[in-house]
Order: sequence, then C-alpha cells, then structure tokens
Amino acid sequence: MLSRIFLATALGCLIFFCAIFCAPSALAQPPAANQMPSVIQVPAAAQASPHFDATAATNAYLAQIPADKTARSDAYFEGGYWLILWDFLYGAVVALLLLNLRWSARMRDLAERVTRFKPVHTCVYWLQYLVLTSILIFPLTVYEGYFREHKYGLATQTFGPWMGDQMKSLGVGLVLGGVVVMLLFGVVRRLPRTWWIWGAVVTILFTTFIDLIGPVYISPIFNTYTRLNDPKIVEPILSMARANGIPAKDVYTMDASRQSTRMSANVSGFANTMRITLNDNLLRRGSPEEIQAVMGHEMGHYVMNHIYKGILFDSIETVLMFACLYFGLGWALKRWGEKWKIRGVGDTAVVPLVVLLVSIFSFVFTPVDNTATRTQEYEADMYGLNTSRQPDGFAQAAIHVGEYRKMNPGPIEEWIFFDHPSGRNRIYAAMRWKAENLKLFMSQQ
Ligand SMILES: [Zn+2]
Repeated sequence: MLSRIFLATALGCLIFFCAIFCAPSALAQPPAANQMPSVIQVPAAAQASPHFDATAATNAYLAQIPADKTARSDAYFEGGYWLILWDFLYGAVVALLLLNLRWSARMRDLAERVTRFKPVHTCVYWLQYLVLTSILIFPLTVYEGYFREHKYGLATQTFGPWMGDQMKSLGVGLVLGGVVVMLLFGVVRRLPRTWWIWGAVVTILFTTFIDLIGPVYISPIFNTYTRLNDPKIVEPILSMARANGIPAKDVYTMDASRQSTRMSANVSGFANTMRITLNDNLLRRGSPEEIQAVMGHEMGHYVMNHIYKGILFDSIETVLMFACLYFGLGWALKRWGEKWKIRGVGDTAVVPLVVLLVSIFSFVFTPVDNTATRTQEYEADMYGLNTSRQPDGFAQAAIHVGEYRKMNPGPIEEWIFFDHPSGRNRIYAAMRWKAENLKLFMSQQ
C-alpha cells in the first residue's frame, strides 16, 4: 500500500516537472533584477545644514527610489504575508491527510517490519515521513523558492543547482531531524508523565548545539566562506571592532550570489564559532560607508549578546510549546487516536499530529517572534549608527534591502510581519541620529 502511495506521489511530481519543462517558460528570459541603484546619492535635503530636518531628509531618501521598484518590492513582500497563511494551511492539509488516510500508521507498520529496535525504527519512520512530505509539499516549495524568486528578479540559480540545494537540505533534515526525533521519542517513552519538560530541555540543547556548529559545519554545505583579505574593506571594520572591544581577527565573506541578489550580512554562531560575515552582493555593490554602517549593526548584535538572548527567548517559547503539545496531543489522541491508528504519544505515527500542533503554535506566534527579532534589530541599528557614524551609508543599506522588503508599511503591518524595522523607520532613525550629531558633518564641509 505504502509503495503505491509513493508511486502515486512520485508520478504526480513527474507530471508536474514535465509541465514545468515543456511549457514555454517565462523563465527562459529571466526578468531584470529588481535592483535599486548601487550608489545612492545623498539627497540635498539630507545634506548637513543648519536647516537639517530628519523627516524631510527621510522623505528625500525615499523619493530616490523609483516608483516601479517600490511597487515591485511591495508586491513581493506583501505576497509573503499570504505565503505564511498558505504554507500553514497547505502543511495542515498534508498532516491531516497523513493522519486520516492512516498513511502515518502505515509508515510506522512498515518501519516495524524493518526493525523493532526502537531508535532505528524511529529513524526508518522519519526517513519515510520526510521524503513523503517533501514530495507532497514540493509544488509549494518550487513556487515559493524558485519561480517566485525568479519572477521578482531575486534568484540567480538555474533549476538544476536550485534542486541540488533542495536535496542538500533534505539530507541535512534527514540527519539532524533523525537525531532529534530519535532523542525525543526516547524521552517520551521513558518519561510518560514529564516528557514535555525533558523534551523541551532536549530540544533547547539540540538547537543550541546546532547554532554553535552551524556556521562551521552546516552553512558551508550550501555556500563557500572565505576570509576577506582586501585591507581597504577589512581595516576599517577591524578598527571598529577593536574600538568596541570585539576580539575579531577576521571578517568573512560568502558567495550568496550563488543563490540570490540580496545584499546582507550576519553574525552567527557563538563561543569559538562566532563570526561576522558580509555577503558578496553587499561587498560588490555597497559603498565603503554602507559596508561600515552594516558592520556596525552586526557588531551591535555581538556586543549586546543577541545570540544568547535569542537562545533564552527561544528556550522559553520551546517550553511553552511543549506544554501546549502535552495538552494538545492528549486531547486530540483521545478523540481521534483510534481512528488514526495511533497507539499513544510514544508511537512514531503521531509525528504528523505533532507537526500540525507545532505549526499552529508557530503560526499564532508569528507576530511575537517577529517583534522579538525586530526589537533586537532596532537595538543593533542604534548601536551601528553610534559606532560607524555613517547615517547616510546606513540609509543606503536600508534602501538596498528594500529590494526585497516593503519600505513603508503601516504600524500594525510592521508589528505583525516585519522581523526588521521597516526601511522608512530605519532611514528615519539614521537621519534623526544625523540631526543630533550635525556637528560631525558640518565641520567636514
Ligand atoms: Zn541584524
């Protein structure tokens, strides 16, 4: 029966692929990238003068963005709001399908025929589950990750390498997901009453471990990381690091252009694996002032211990999520457990139900997570302005990331959907900083 399920889904995907390749593709001619101008001039109203006004300067910066670019990045970003909903609903349908058609129970039975040794049994189930669900959600994955990105000129990959990255992600999911699922079922089976507390502890330790090893062992699976050598770029950054008490000796760059046109930078890992990386799109298109402003922001994350605070926040949320799981699973299994042929919380067939409940939790928590991240990003913005003293470089960076983020949302929209302050708010913060530090710029003139 299960092989028939696989056959049917695989066949469906094959037809889907044929349709993609045979149709005269709109992607034969990739649309022009939605690129803002690389160098953004400091508009007259944003130049230091005794009449400098932060709001007028902000408006002058925003007025530099061509209207068609704004419309396009607004459409891209607002489409993302709907995708949160569609991803959630599609995932819920897949989970309910696996439960109601008892495919999950059948996968468990098959895994039991392979082995009764619990840890291996769990892994065999996980392998089937992940492959089957990846196939079922593939239409949405390919639309969201490939066609839509190309439509908005943000993607640089052709289908083959994109699919290669998907396969790598699947491999990572099989290994890391397999380990965590094995550990969690071990906990549930041994501690039937308190599993939700210990399950949360295992999850927290595991995700912290992944955060630690990620920059060194996982990210390089997808991109090449190299030490940056150009002293023109590196020296001002390292000088800024020294001035802020950051023991950095190197700055890294990575070939983000392999996948996308997005300009960005990040600070990742912690302890020995902590590193600041600026991607090659930023390096190629950003002005020195812009790069310094962005690096100042990243250093803010480091100095204010945002990674540790993030881990703490995620830990609290994880405990809350496991408590919800404890009650949610008990409630759902009492009602439908028999129908779905799930024997209990310790039965691997319960996985789609767990995924469904976790996705409901994450969906509801979207604004909370976004607000937590956005608050840290705002703090890093303030730190970056103070340390780089490049408000115009910062405004230019805000416009560049506006290639894929809406610049000027309403306040509620920003609260719900934005994990960074909006472009307008970031430029305004930079211009406000400039207004309060005008003497730094007046003396240069
Ligand atoms: Zn940041």
